[in-house]
Amino acid sequence: MTTLESLKPTRKQTVKEITERLGISMSSQYDWCFSDSNDGPHLLNIWYDHMIEENGEIYFIDNSAEWADQNRKTAVTVQINRANAVTSTIQTAYYKKQPVHIAILDGVRKMGSRRETSEAHQRELDDALWYPHHKGNDGRIRVIRGKPQPDDFEPTTDLFPDQSVETRPIPQPPAKLERNGVATFPRDSEVIKAVKRRAIEGRCEICGKEGFRTSNGDFYLEGHHVIPLNCGGLDDIRNVVAICADDHRRAHFGEDRHELRDRMIWDILHVHYPNETIFMELLDEKSHEITRNSSSVRMLEDNKTDS
Ligand SMILES: [Zn+2]
Ligand SMILES: [Zn+2]
Repeated sequence: MTTLESLKPTRKQTVKEITERLGISMSSQYDWCFSDSNDGPHLLNIWYDHMIEENGEIYFIDNSAEWADQNRKTAVTVQINRANAVTSTIQTAYYKKQPVHIAILDGVRKMGSRRETSEAHQRELDDALWYPHHKGNDGRIRVIRGKPQPDDFEPTTDLFPDQSVETRPIPQPPAKLERNGVATFPRDSEVIKAVKRRAIEGRCEICGKEGFRTSNGDFYLEGHHVIPLNCGGLDDIRNVVAICADDHRRAHFGEDRHELRDRMIWDILHVHYPNETIFMELLDEKSHEITRNSSSVRMLEDNKTDS
């Protein structure tokens, strides 16, 4: 008999690898669930520590919509949408009496000051199929490993609160242009100007130091793309900060450049644009991608002419 412990993932399969194996298209590697249609197949990422072993059954209880509800104030919109998508996939499979594939995650989950951050260190597709069963006494669906719904299984309809999921379009990065074999990105000088106007009293948005006066009477500050254009960043005021020359160098070359990027996103940009959490979450994802990806890090250093 399979024990829960034996399901603890020991390898890190990529989302791409798993979706390819199941023949499901991968919308975004950051999504928590994947389905090409309501008829499946469905793939869900589920944390190992959410799973329960009891009376010879291994199952998990879907609480993602509840999580979304509880964290509506602190979680970013994209996380809320992903959590709701998990619940809606499970509900679909439940009503249609379909199995779901489960990729089991293990890693680090911690509650940050502003939001929960999770990083899957291991991810492994479980070979067995899982099936959504009637909600238990607690009113929630149980998804049980390797236990198909009984023949007389009738989904009940007295379930689930209404979940209207807000979705907003995801902005596209600017097109790359080739000029003399060198990739360049179009920039709008109005963006930099607007960001410099945004800097309060001409002060660096990181350290607060006042820039020196330039010959035309402005305070000197440099515009910096938090996610560089050559790493998929946007030429958009929500991705640009106005900072002093010292901090600009630090943002590119400092040993703490990755942490600095996180601070610029959440302590500067998000403060300026508090309603743009989904945009900030996208920056945040790209930021972590840069931290993880050494070639992006090299690009970041090469990008010192970014101003
Ligand atoms: Zn500064
Ligand atoms: Zn820069």
